Amino acid sequence: MLRTQVAIIGAGPAGLLLGQLLHRAGIGTIILEQRSKDYVLARIRAGVLEQGAVGLIEEAGASARMRQEGLVHDGTEIAFGGVRYRIDFQALTGKTVMVYGQTEVTRDLMDAREAVGAPTVYEALDVTIHAADTDRPSVRYRKDGHETDIACDFVAGCDGFHGVSRQTIPEHALRTYERVYPFGWLGILVDKPPLSDELVYVNHERGFALCSMRSATRSRYYLQCGLDEHLDDWPDDKFWEELRRRLDPEAVARLQTGPAIEKSIAPLRSFVAEPMRFGRLFLAGDAAHIVPPTGAKGLNLAASDVAYLSRAFVEWYQRNSMAGLDTYPRRALARVWKAERFSWWMTQILHRFPESSGFDGKLQAAELDYLFGSKAAQTVLAENYVGLPY
Ligand SMILES: Cc1cc2nc3c(=O)[nH]c(=O)nc-3n(C[C@H](O)[C@H](O)[C@H](O)COP(=O)(O)OP(=O)(O)OC[C@H]3O[C@@H](n4cnc5c(N)ncnc54)[C@H](O)[C@@H]3O)c2cc1C
Repeated sequence: MLRTQVAIIGAGPAGLLLGQLLHRAGIGTIILEQRSKDYVLARIRAGVLEQGAVGLIEEAGASARMRQEGLVHDGTEIAFGGVRYRIDFQALTGKTVMVYGQTEVTRDLMDAREAVGAPTVYEALDVTIHAADTDRPSVRYRKDGHETDIACDFVAGCDGFHGVSRQTIPEHALRTYERVYPFGWLGILVDKPPLSDELVYVNHERGFALCSMRSATRSRYYLQCGLDEHLDDWPDDKFWEELRRRLDPEAVARLQTGPAIEKSIAPLRSFVAEPMRFGRLFLAGDAAHIVPPTGAKGLNLAASDVAYLSRAFVEWYQRNSMAGLDTYPRRALARVWKAERFSWWMTQILHRFPESSGFDGKLQAAELDYLFGSKAAQTVLAENYVGLPY
């Protein structure tokens, strides 16, 4: 039987960031990750960091490479009716966002954890959580055929949407809210410079598109696609051809194409599980909530949950106060729901919905027209995009 203070399940951004912040506060953790380190590092996901997330990565002592290689973005562009409009985050809010891939964030946090010798068990299989509603919770896992139990004070469920933590909570103690959207995003990663210095969101009659990036030499492009479509239906040439159809002529002229180094389809979903706590088990990140990626909020929400949760653990261990842990669900969920609202709204105004009527289309056009013409509306978008305070 091993012992630690906080057993963390999942070595995604939430688990790794929590582990590092707790380590720096002198709190012992063991992270259990079901996949190998290489597998976790090969996953291509988010890429836009709010200032709050950047600050936390700094606090975790893992920001050196991000500061060197990350791209600071002052604004973004939205294209509609063949015209591009710019939303100037810096002018409207005094804040910016940082483009730095989730894979890189994960690698930096893994390196920081290894440098201080804090334990992570990769390929920890069949993780189960026991006695979470008592003062003596424990976690069990299997590795190389051997079972190990970890006694702990608390369990942090940072194991994503399909993890075991949320599933451990009895049905009567959990309430879930969900919206599944009638489309997905087909994404391509390519080693070519992006077509613009900033992200370009496109609302086109053939569907949504996004021109994003991971660095000055690596671009990420997305197309709205049907839920019944498969990667085999989308050879690279077809992807580029369809993207060109959805872009304005200047963007097409600047688009540099090449062989995809990664291609994937992600369905879009909004999901929240309340109350993010069961006794001494606390959920953080995708384990508790999912947003459609349109507002670039998934990774950032994982970071804000971890900010609340890490401070609450520090309060317990340094001042013997449960106040932070008791109020964690309320504080985290207040921010989660605002990000859910923003991500839903961005999805609503930028995608073509198959069931949409003529009336819906007119409302969407009016919404965008209002946004492009109103500083107040642009400020609302900018304030949410750069991230609400926590
Ligand atoms: C395909 C995809 C594309 C995305 N693209 C974007 C994007 O473009 N923009 C954006 O903002 N967000 C995006 N997201 C969302 C963003 O990546 C997530 O919000 C973010 O990864 C959340 O971090 P997390 O640590 O909570 O969860 P995760 O990153 O999912 O990490 C959870 C970890 O727990 C591990 N785990 C799971 N089950 C167990 C178990 N039983 N035992 C032990 N370990 C377990 C997993 O292997 C994983 O390493 C995307 C998500 C996906 C799935």
